Amino acid sequence: MLVPYLSIFFLLVAIVLFIVAARKKRQAGIPAGRVIYTDTSKWGKVEKPLFDPTLRLTGKPDYLVKQGSQIIPVEVKSGRSLDAPHDSHIYQLAAYCLLVQHEYGTRPNYGILHYSNKTYAIEFNSTLEASVIATLHEMQEKTTRSLVDRSHKNPHNCQHCGYRSICDQSLRI
Ligand code: SF4
Repeated sequence: MLVPYLSIFFLLVAIVLFIVAARKKRQAGIPAGRVIYTDTSKWGKVEKPLFDPTLRLTGKPDYLVKQGSQIIPVEVKSGRSLDAPHDSHIYQLAAYCLLVQHEYGTRPNYGILHYSNKTYAIEFNSTLEASVIATLHEMQEKTTRSLVDRSHKNPHNCQHCGYRSICDQSLRI
């Protein structure tokens, strides 16, 4: 798998790697989320990306909402949720929790994943935090190599991958 050198890891373009890592770590106690009702009128649009130079992580949640002393990130997905949130969405939201923690100096206890039919609160517990940080480090270590082997056999991952046009290990459906 050809991966270009990156000085900064851009969260949204690396979502495929999140999916792979999330699958591996699902058994490690990652929270599945609980369905909640939330007042969307209190959600504030995020104007510019959040950035943590230590983690070399940047990303922009769709909304932030104040809950007491906490700032909670909200990620909106246009599709429906069937049984549970997607692992990759949980990891993306956890990365936003890390960014909120850095930018606002307050740790969110949870983040919100909003699908067209359901809204979930995803607990930002220590297991999820450790897992997402380990995944980030793993990915950043790989971006310093010029060649990294494909880590999956799923053509659907490649179908929507941003590196597909330059990748020499892309799988076709
Ligand atoms: S095209 Fe497939 S193998 Fe290549 S980087 Fe993307 S997901 Fe990995």
